[in-house]
Amino acid sequence: MKGKISEVFSSVQGEGLYLGIKQLFVRFYGCNLQCSFCDTRIDSFIEYEPQELCDEIGLYGKNFHSLAFTGGEPLLQKGFLKEILQAAKLQHYRNYLETNGTLPAELAEVIQYVDIVAMDIKLPSSAGSSGLWSVHEEFLKVASAKEVFVKTVICSSTTQQDIEQTVKLLYRASPSSVLVLQPDSNEKFSVLEEKLEQLKHFCRWYRITACIIPQIHKMIGVR
Ligand code: SF4
Repeated sequence: MKGKISEVFSSVQGEGLYLGIKQLFVRFYGCNLQCSFCDTRIDSFIEYEPQELCDEIGLYGKNFHSLAFTGGEPLLQKGFLKEILQAAKLQHYRNYLETNGTLPAELAEVIQYVDIVAMDIKLPSSAGSSGLWSVHEEFLKVASAKEVFVKTVICSSTTQQDIEQTVKLLYRASPSSVLVLQPDSNEKFSVLEEKLEQLKHFCRWYRITACIIPQIHKMIGVR
């Protein structure tokens, strides 16, 4: 079985609770969503056999925190991903999965080999997507078997209704998970302040831990 991989590179994590830590990134090709703010659409890929990809990972040594499987959406290639995750565990790597949180059945097949799940919640009013609430909830329930945190992008079009839905979803599916609010880096922070305050208010009400962490890739010029 071959996997389609867009790139393998060493860098620092640019968002979420592991911001700034050194990781080896394996970017899977292809995504099942079309978010309006997407900046990771890559048209090219190389096909790897599992062993070929493991050999390439091995060239980077082990002086980093974890292997970050990112995309696109890695779970779209769940069979190949499972083989790589299993091989990585045998080599004592820590596996960090970045995912759009929409493929719960696929996650269930690989969760035992994942250490950390960094899951997005795509708000209809921010990402332009719709109908994802129930799959996000199901996904978060599966992910909560491991360390998981949830990220969501807040922009000027984000509605209060979506904000409430997000907090309630965490409350039902995984109340101990941290919610990371990511102000859209393309917009002025002052425009977003009121929305972030609303979200913090709901989080306090439902006892969900939330923090505001901007995406720093563009600020510091890293991938
Ligand atoms: S889930 Fe991620 S990679 Fe896929 S379209 Fe949305 S932002 Fe882009």
